[in-house]
Amino acid sequence: MKHAAMVCILVLLWMTGCASQPRRVVSPPPAISTTAAIPAPAGQFQPDANLYLCPNATITNALESDSRNRVLNFNPVVLVDGKVVMTPVPVNNACLTSGFGRRFGRTHKGLDLKASPPEMVYAAAPGIIREATTSTGFGNHVVIDHGQGVFTRYGHLDRFAPGVWEGASIGFGQPLGVMGQTGNATGIHLHFEVLTGNYNTPKKSFGLTARNPLSFPAYTGQASGY
Ligand SMILES: [Zn+2]
Repeated sequence: MKHAAMVCILVLLWMTGCASQPRRVVSPPPAISTTAAIPAPAGQFQPDANLYLCPNATITNALESDSRNRVLNFNPVVLVDGKVVMTPVPVNNACLTSGFGRRFGRTHKGLDLKASPPEMVYAAAPGIIREATTSTGFGNHVVIDHGQGVFTRYGHLDRFAPGVWEGASIGFGQPLGVMGQTGNATGIHLHFEVLTGNYNTPKKSFGLTARNPLSFPAYTGQASGY
């Protein structure tokens, strides 16, 4: 009897633990919304505190994760090259289907993030929209210029959110569009890139250097250049 009661309590704990585990989010640090030299206001988006590998995904460029598929050493708000504060995962409730690096003999230049149902994608940092266009590879995609040679790209959007056009200022956490399957995509997901370099070449965003979004240090409250 005692044993049965114990099992019951354990099962209950397990069930409530699974069913009611709240999704933790982090507040964007003040630097994102108040000290960036971009006049656009920040949106309501708050980055998730954790990132998980998708349960059934085959991640060839695997990241270290714990027994619950949680990516280890994940920083929800990072500082890129000591210059730009951003979130490396600009979407809520998404899991990672592919990381940055070698994949099928080629370099995968960003993160693939999937959510079901599909989720809104947000600006990872304040900036100016340089590209809001459609291409065969990335489908409906957005490139944001965050200043100081730092850019982000968002591929395969279902469609563009209102106010997303080339030349527009955009604040941290403002909606860009729901993740989709436009362009060369095998399923609904966001392809997200962090890019650095000189945009003003004939190749524009395709002349920039792709960086691993998960490689940057956590933002600790100090950013130069704002
Ligand atoms: Zn991708």
